[in-house]
Amino acid sequence: MVKQPFACGECNRILPDPAHKNDVVQCTNCPSAPVTTDWQGYVIILDPTRSEVAKRLNVTSPGTYALKVNIR
Ligand SMILES: [Zn+2]
Repeated sequence: MVKQPFACGECNRILPDPAHKNDVVQCTNCPSAPVTTDWQGYVIILDPTRSEVAKRLNVTSPGTYALKVNIR
């Protein structure tokens, strides 16, 4: 089973694994936002200005994002 990476509950960015396994995963854009492995839909956005998905997610910088992040 492949480990699901964390995604940011605020900006939907999929977060890389921490360099050390006991480090807390945090979004560099929104450090106070909750993160979760409960998300769906992996999208790679190369050019946010030309992407409908990016507009829908309010994404302004290129990267990998989750389409839906489930934060309670
Ligand atoms: Zn974020």
